[in-house]
Amino acid sequence: MTKFSDLKLDPKVLKAIEDAGYTEPTPIQAGAIPSALDGRDVLGIAQTGTGKTASFTLPMITLLSKGRARARMPRSLVLAPTRELAAQVAENFDIYAKNTKLTKALLIGGVSFKEQETLIDRGVDVLIATPGRLLDHFERGKLLLTGVQIMVVDEADRMLDMGFIPDIERIFNLTPFTRQTLFFSATMAPEIERITNTFLSNPAKVEVARAATTGENITQGVVLFKASRRDREGTEKRKVLRALIDAEGNACTNAIIFCNRKTDVDICAKSLKKYGYDAAPIHGDLDQSKRMDILQQFRDGTLRFLCASDVAARGLDIPSVSHVFNYDVPGHAEDYVHRIGRTGRAGRTGRALMICSKRDEKNLNAIEELVKMEIPRVENPVKSVEPHEKPPVEEKAAAPRRARKSDGDRSERKPNNRQDRNSVIGMGDHLPSFIAKSFEERRAG
Ligand code: AMP
Repeated sequence: MTKFSDLKLDPKVLKAIEDAGYTEPTPIQAGAIPSALDGRDVLGIAQTGTGKTASFTLPMITLLSKGRARARMPRSLVLAPTRELAAQVAENFDIYAKNTKLTKALLIGGVSFKEQETLIDRGVDVLIATPGRLLDHFERGKLLLTGVQIMVVDEADRMLDMGFIPDIERIFNLTPFTRQTLFFSATMAPEIERITNTFLSNPAKVEVARAATTGENITQGVVLFKASRRDREGTEKRKVLRALIDAEGNACTNAIIFCNRKTDVDICAKSLKKYGYDAAPIHGDLDQSKRMDILQQFRDGTLRFLCASDVAARGLDIPSVSHVFNYDVPGHAEDYVHRIGRTGRAGRTGRALMICSKRDEKNLNAIEELVKMEIPRVENPVKSVEPHEKPPVEEKAAAPRRARKSDGDRSERKPNNRQDRNSVIGMGDHLPSFIAKSFEERRAG
């Protein structure tokens, strides 16, 4: 078995690793570090959770330890698809480079240009950026990429999903062709293959096994769900979600709830909060400080439920979640593997539950084909339609109500609030209290 001390890393780096408590390199580290230290290009096929961040950060720090940064000309560049991932790489860099004098700058949206420009002006050894922000700085004429000796592309498959490949190509062309490239992707889609063929030179290919797809420590289940009426689908589905959470009891210490759309991430978080669950959303439309804040709370354990989109959650290093709930069946079967890989980490047990609507059954089949097993069917925990969910009698007489576009939270009924009783059509959620009162009186009578 390889030891860190066999890897020819800078002693200062070795000391930082020891302080971090790592005893031995992970397979991607053992595979990638020697080639990277030899100055070779590396093509790493690995996903988050495998220790891939250290597999490029550790050799970078070692290689950069000699030499000095010049103003506006970073010596190395790490590109990550999202702000959180870039921030996470920066945090890793701080841990592993703590015994060196290397400097870094983080260029991500949501942070002022001025602050970032001051850092670049001073000269940085490592520039960590999202592609869009990097190009913004470049176009402002504040940044030169001709001094880049090492370039890292992290989570390339996610960059592809997010439409960043043209930006990446442009950035590659702005850096010297003599640079060393360390390129990481969880999968090798044809477009990724093309990029690596174009921009990597005779790379050392290191592939590590996918994180547990159907790991024995993750128990899975899927509820086949059919709404009683189309315009009630969102409301009823959220009810199923709450019932699934409740059924897990205390075993559910914390969970990530994945939705396919940003609007649903928001709606789910709002809805759960409304029902007294400690939940918050994370997606690309929230401002940076808010996202970091929510993430930190989730990591600290002060937030129990994180509602997330795939893009926002991809690659986030969250140590242990007891549960993953798939509010939607993901459109890409691969995403299912990524999502459920958030639980059952490091030998712990985990549970992954999913809600599948009729129209998502095709996607469910694709997932089952990929993971080569049938996901056990779980009975819908919402067994009977409760009285307040039956179409109110008045509704038949009233003009048909059109489903709201977002089928949003406003149509939800909180238990024991006044809307739990038969609602009055046409009043929306703003039922004047005198009307509610007359209902009470009628009932009493
Ligand atoms: P990553 O795949 O880079 O997101 O890393 C996943 C987690 O593994 C992070 O929390 C790292 O701090 C941790 N990690 C990285 N390398 C090692 C190692 N050699 N031993 C133990 N933990 C590690």
